[in-house]
Amino acid sequence: MKWGLIGASTIASEHMIGAIRAQSGHEIVTVLSSDPVRGKEYAAKHGIPTSTSELDDVLNGSNVDAVYISTTNEKHLPQALAAIKAGKHVMCEKPLAMSVTDAVTMVRAAEAASVTLATNHHLRNAGSHMAIRDLIHSGRLGQVLSIRIFHAVMLPAHLQGWRIDNPLAGGGVIPDIVVHDADTVRFYLDEDPSDVVAVERSGAMGQGVEDSVMSVWTTPSGVTVQTHESFTHPFAGSGIEVHGTAGSVIARNVMTQQPVGEVLLRTADGEEQLAFSTHNLYQRSVAKFAEAVAGTGEPAATGIDGVKSLAVAEAVKAAATTGQQTTVDYGGF
Ligand code: NDP
Repeated sequence: MKWGLIGASTIASEHMIGAIRAQSGHEIVTVLSSDPVRGKEYAAKHGIPTSTSELDDVLNGSNVDAVYISTTNEKHLPQALAAIKAGKHVMCEKPLAMSVTDAVTMVRAAEAASVTLATNHHLRNAGSHMAIRDLIHSGRLGQVLSIRIFHAVMLPAHLQGWRIDNPLAGGGVIPDIVVHDADTVRFYLDEDPSDVVAVERSGAMGQGVEDSVMSVWTTPSGVTVQTHESFTHPFAGSGIEVHGTAGSVIARNVMTQQPVGEVLLRTADGEEQLAFSTHNLYQRSVAKFAEAVAGTGEPAATGIDGVKSLAVAEAVKAAATTGQQTTVDYGGF
């Protein structure tokens, strides 16, 4: 599979270029940057044969089969629509778009063009989260009552650009991290949160965007989900807990890009540490995308999953802004 990178980004540099190259028969042939000089430097640094600042060069001037979009969030919609129009398969970063309406437009366009659209939600590719999901579905926790998510981290200095001061580029902790937590909950439960309440704040870091948020979601089966996302917490550590009538899972250091962490199961029989696979999250995401393109599988997270995680984030933002309990609008999905 020949890939074009749309966006000379940090995530591509730190994770996705390696993840694509780890697949047998995959190669990256070109990279798009809005800045020709930076694009050229980026291509040289990563051994990518060509760079361009014209989207058309990627879509029509090269022979790519698929594109990976990792530009800032406001560019995802136009770039994805152009790629889909050119018949390319699209792996797009989260949040899929700036609004649920736009994300739905992307999904509908991909459906009409019969190309694969995937959302790069890495967490559902983690061995830890797959093990927790399996545990829930095995029934060992009994009926799930509640989930608590601890995703308050310190945004690294090199990522403190548009995320903390540019709402027009999709900055703010809600589009950045709440989408991941929403996707993880949906992955665990196979159901979609229905209503949310939330409180946000712009503290030490956010300039015109929220840098912290706490929210509570309810699901149709009655699960209560409590979440805390932040850019400003250097020492909080991450984690997720799932509490059921027959057992609890307490997982620490698992809301991360690395295949690490600890997963503890506590039941009436005592406590046990769960073993889980430590494969690379992003390599699995690309592998599942490739299976979908080949017609032999599904993306780990589809375009519809991207719509739905964004819908929860959008409801959290609305609830935090209005102070009102807000029903999640999934845009018809
Ligand atoms: P970056 O800020 O690194 O990159 C976004 C854009 O900013 C790039 O496309 C590039 O524009 C420009 N840019 C990058 N570095 C520089 C620089 N040094 N000087 C000037 N411009 C620069 O963002 P991220 O990689 O952190 O995020 C990109 C996307 O990926 C977002 O949608 C984000 O939500 C998502 N993401 C997903 C993660 C996941 O695990 N799924 C993790 C991190 C991010 P150009 O291409 O025009 O040169």
